[in-house]
Amino acid sequence: MADIDLRNLVKTYPGGRNRATDDVSLTVADGEFLVLVGPSGCGKTTLLRMIAGLELPDAGAVHIGGRDVTALPARQRDLSMVFQSYAIFPHLRVRQNIAFGLTMRKVPKPEIDRRVERAADLLHLTEYLDRYPAHLSGGQRQRVAVARAIVVDAGVLLMDEPLSNLDALLRMQFRTELKKIVAELGTTTVYVTHDQAEALSLGDRVAVMREGRIAQIGPPLEVYDAPCETFVGGFLGAPPMNFVAAHVRRAGNDAVLRLGDHDLPAPATLLTRDGDRVTLGVRAENIQVATDEAPDRMPGTVEVVEPTGATILLTVSVAGQQLKVQTAPTVRSKPGDPVWLAVDPDRLRLYDPDTGAAVD
Ligand code: ATP
Repeated sequence: MADIDLRNLVKTYPGGRNRATDDVSLTVADGEFLVLVGPSGCGKTTLLRMIAGLELPDAGAVHIGGRDVTALPARQRDLSMVFQSYAIFPHLRVRQNIAFGLTMRKVPKPEIDRRVERAADLLHLTEYLDRYPAHLSGGQRQRVAVARAIVVDAGVLLMDEPLSNLDALLRMQFRTELKKIVAELGTTTVYVTHDQAEALSLGDRVAVMREGRIAQIGPPLEVYDAPCETFVGGFLGAPPMNFVAAHVRRAGNDAVLRLGDHDLPAPATLLTRDGDRVTLGVRAENIQVATDEAPDRMPGTVEVVEPTGATILLTVSVAGQQLKVQTAPTVRSKPGDPVWLAVDPDRLRLYDPDTGAAVD
């Protein structure tokens, strides 16, 4: 069992004005793939380094496999790591590079060969085993770094932006491979990235970090669909979630959301009072666009049309506010066209306009 249990981790760097991690507690189940995601400086790497034993927390504890490892150095924690600046040794062939951790651990030679060949097979490196790193592409080198980490067969695998040096296409291909490999190994994995698409696609769960804290943690689609604060909805997704100002109009038990001169049906669960200001959050793909008027549709004007290949992204102005709307590539609109928008009330999320927190 190599579950990870982080308890109230606090870390401030000498001279740092704010806490790099501020009372972070979370657990990663045995065999789970957890992604830490968030903007630059939110504390992802610091958290990973505390799990790794490369950084000591000021307060709090790190447990791995039920053992308190807070004070143990990295080499006594049964983990392997891949970092952004993957250091593979230029003077060693791929085979020796991958075998490095095993050689250091004095694993018998036949066992090393067996494990290196299996890792090379998983990462499509078999034909490069006798090459030097100088004769590999960037993507192949990055795969060597990953192979070197997984071959050790540690209880925990830690990765910090391991795909950052790859171009967009390679990054996507490698992401798919990595997901397959980690699932096959069943190793408990913590993966750091600032790339929201990578986080959504890789993680069993994602933890979105903000200013040293976990803003939200959960399965990717749950966090994407129901962000607990506007920050999370604005960080996950491309385009980010739309946010527009509205207010509540109540008549008896019924409530509507007033946006400009238009009423939107409110979610059945809405408890806010008449006149309350709210921020509406809605994903671009949850807005339907029509070219003819209907009583339950909001009128808008197309401002920008951006084909993305599989879909078209429209920027539509509605009551003086802008909404991104994702449509089928068959929808033909041009700037200046009138359109009518509809939103399923179940897909609307409501937030407090002052705090950004979700309103139940
Ligand atoms: P990035 O995606 O840019 O790597 P991150 O989310 O991984 O960012 P951290 O590297 O953990 O963030 O940094 C968290 C905070 O701690 C930042 O404000 C950063 O400036 C600060 N920090 C990180 N390392 C150090 C250090 N060695 N000394 C002082 N401050 C540091």
